[in-house]
Amino acid sequence: MNFKNDKINEECGIFGGYSPQKNIAPYIKCALLKLQHRGQEAAGISCGNNFQKVVKDCGLVNSALENFLIKELEGNFGIGHVRYSTFGDDRKENIQPLKITYMGEDVSLAHNGNVSQAKKIRERFERLGEVFLSSSDSEVMLKTLIFSLKKKPSLWTFDEVAKCLKKNFSLGAYCILLYLPNRILAFRDNFGYRPLMFAKCKEGYFVASEDVAFYGLNADEIIEIKPAEGIEITGEGYQIKSFATPKEIRQCVFEQIYFSSSASNVFYKNVYETRVRLGEILFNSVDNNFTADVAIPVMDSGLGCAIGYSQASKIPFHLGLIRNNWMERSFIQPNQDKRSFNVKQKFIPIKSVINGKKIVLIDDSLVRGTTSSEIIKMLRKCGAKEVHMRSVSPKIINTCLWGVDIPTKTELISFGKTDGQIASLIGADSVKFLPPEMLSKVFEGNVWCKKCFKEDKNEVFLP
Ligand code: 5GP
Ligand code: MG
Repeated sequence: MNFKNDKINEECGIFGGYSPQKNIAPYIKCALLKLQHRGQEAAGISCGNNFQKVVKDCGLVNSALENFLIKELEGNFGIGHVRYSTFGDDRKENIQPLKITYMGEDVSLAHNGNVSQAKKIRERFERLGEVFLSSSDSEVMLKTLIFSLKKKPSLWTFDEVAKCLKKNFSLGAYCILLYLPNRILAFRDNFGYRPLMFAKCKEGYFVASEDVAFYGLNADEIIEIKPAEGIEITGEGYQIKSFATPKEIRQCVFEQIYFSSSASNVFYKNVYETRVRLGEILFNSVDNNFTADVAIPVMDSGLGCAIGYSQASKIPFHLGLIRNNWMERSFIQPNQDKRSFNVKQKFIPIKSVINGKKIVLIDDSLVRGTTSSEIIKMLRKCGAKEVHMRSVSPKIINTCLWGVDIPTKTELISFGKTDGQIASLIGADSVKFLPPEMLSKVFEGNVWCKKCFKEDKNEVFLP
């Protein structure tokens, strides 16, 4: 199975809502800038009142949504999107929000997640002669809604849309925003894989992937939308409603470990605190008698992890590598040479911190092992005496169908390998991971998806 080609929407970021006083577009742009870490390949805004205008392009928020373009947008309602695509999915047609016009009315959609059933539904439509303008599963969702409801979008009710999503996409991972005439509807899937937050602010009512997007606004109240819940926002107010009783909650642990901003609170937990705690637990569970001269984080998501590790171990913490935030993403480059090149460009070592030292290098995770092996080469070049690699996530040994960009199993450095084998592959003196059973110390209860750390005979976990 060519798993990569089935994954389209990945871990994107979404924001939308209603603002009574002012044009909402500048608020959306500011929020998307705070969600930039969730997607750096493209950005877009759909905004207006009765008629919706879309500005979207490839690139980071500031270049995709230049201010002069934002000035063209006007209206009290709107939604926005930052896109993370895997290699090969970066076609312009896939940039969101997707807007269509049906029975003379506009509808826009912004989606974070991955709905695996979309492929089958698309094929069914295509057999009927229907065409699609993109390869995105979000367009499949939009078309499914239109075929199910077959009436003007202004007449679509929350319950009807929720029923259609439940019927057709109940196995998928989605947080979606639908912008209908003078109304915003938002939904979080019944497993709750991805986060969705709501804020009642002086400036209006807003929904976002993470609450970090609300900083800078005057929020009276911030609420997490629960799995199988949604929200309807109109000019008169808002209403949070549940549309199903979730049988099983599967919040993605990777949202906390790697994906979300350290400043965010997702799934009722502060992300920075989680990372610090994971670092402490890692030291206490696998390294109790271990010591080194310096603990160095792999920025950015490794920062909190290394602080926690350093606090627990009393090994001094230092920034031995400065991260160049202006570099392109290394992870999604099409081949290993390009990924390695990008890592080399992304991190700049501080020789005085490294030279002659026994180093413990702490990252949130090892996926292919590109980042760690390139950094270790760099540290050795700067005179490191020993380099011990630590990952606060357990070994990633399985792929993901619900939106985290984990390659095929055979590309995963930890798949079928011992710690010693991994250490020699990445050139470390030792490698250690958080034991999987320790995860429950941070991720309590039965509400987490940890499938990437579990063995599975199939190529991917089918939902
Ligand atoms: P590796 O370089 O071993 O393939 O991946 C591990 C590094 O990539 C870590 O520094 C981690 O923060 C980051 N990472 C982990 N998962 C993802 C992902 O899904 N997408 C991207 N872009 N980076 C990731
Ligand atoms: Mg990283």
